[in-house]
Amino acid sequence: NVDIQKINSGQVIIDLQTAVKELVENSLDANSTSIEILFKNYGIDSIEVIDNGDGIDRLDFKNIALNSYTSKLSSFDDLDILNSFGFRGEAIHSLVSTSKSFQITTATKETYPKASILNFGSNGLLISIKPTTRNVGTSSLITNLFENLPVRRKNFIKNHKREFNKAIELLTNYCLITENVRLKIFNILPKRNNKNLIIATKGLNNKLKDNIYSVFGSKIFNFKSLIEIDFSLNLFSTSKVKLVGYLSNPSPKMGVKSPSHQYIFVNSRPVILKNLKDLLNNLYKSFNLLQYPVFFLNLKINLNMIDINVTPDKRTILIQNETEILNLIKSKILDLYHNSDA
Ligand code: ADP
Ligand code: MG
Repeated sequence: NVDIQKINSGQVIIDLQTAVKELVENSLDANSTSIEILFKNYGIDSIEVIDNGDGIDRLDFKNIALNSYTSKLSSFDDLDILNSFGFRGEAIHSLVSTSKSFQITTATKETYPKASILNFGSNGLLISIKPTTRNVGTSSLITNLFENLPVRRKNFIKNHKREFNKAIELLTNYCLITENVRLKIFNILPKRNNKNLIIATKGLNNKLKDNIYSVFGSKIFNFKSLIEIDFSLNLFSTSKVKLVGYLSNPSPKMGVKSPSHQYIFVNSRPVILKNLKDLLNNLYKSFNLLQYPVFFLNLKINLNMIDINVTPDKRTILIQNETEILNLIKSKILDLYHNSDA
């Protein structure tokens, strides 16, 4: 049923940011060390993600755009020990059914330099395979996102600058947290035919700190104002929870005037964790009333203590013993702030 298919698909890919996020996550899941993201005309004309990952096996060609096809789970139990971004097999199917066209070009180390160009119908069936050459890896090209959902397409075009900025903001999270991978984002404006570089991280041994520099530059804030965080939170004797990253020093003028530059990750996954965010803002305010902290924090936690399968975009996360964990973080930060005040 095409209509039901459209409804379901519409829930996975709801806007430009979820479309591009799904492609980038696929590239990360494929062990890429270099990923290029090309928006044409703010993503209105096309979105292309080019990676140097493992590529796609010929045997999988016919499956990848089918609903619920994923190569990332071998049994249902794997959901408990999940560490890949993808696991539902819905993203490509959704992109294929809502866009004008979806094309994949891919080569594996077995086929290189031979590669294949795959085109899919809006039902997810493979329409054609054409030969080409390419380095090992995969390029995914979406043209006219939401062409098959006219209201959404119109809305996207009308608000394209805002939608584009939201996409860049979400991609910024991945640029910050992804270590040992070079990410580059461009917007190509067809009329002027110029390729604007939006963000580029360094790749190779890039760590969070390098990425913060690459994304925001050294001018945005003074690195001396950030304290390196490396907390071990001993919740129970069995479970290890860690909080690592950077957080503003509470001394006067070390914060910022609005709550921007606040990034939280759980196991290197960009997430919305409102309670932790509120805690950090409130703690900071008790020392430095007029400002907000900058933070880039990654909570590392056993996979069996979290549930990321709450919303389709996987950004809302449930954490077991969240209150206890927040209390531990609170007391560690208070210690830190008291010491840095002295
Ligand atoms: P999921 O990521 O949940 O498995 P997707 O619909 O995003 O589902 O992708 C379907 C399948 O297509 C993946 O399981 C993977 O096998 C393959 N795939 C998609 N993108 C890439 C890529 N960039 N590199 C390698 N394989 C990919
Ligand atoms: Mg995926």
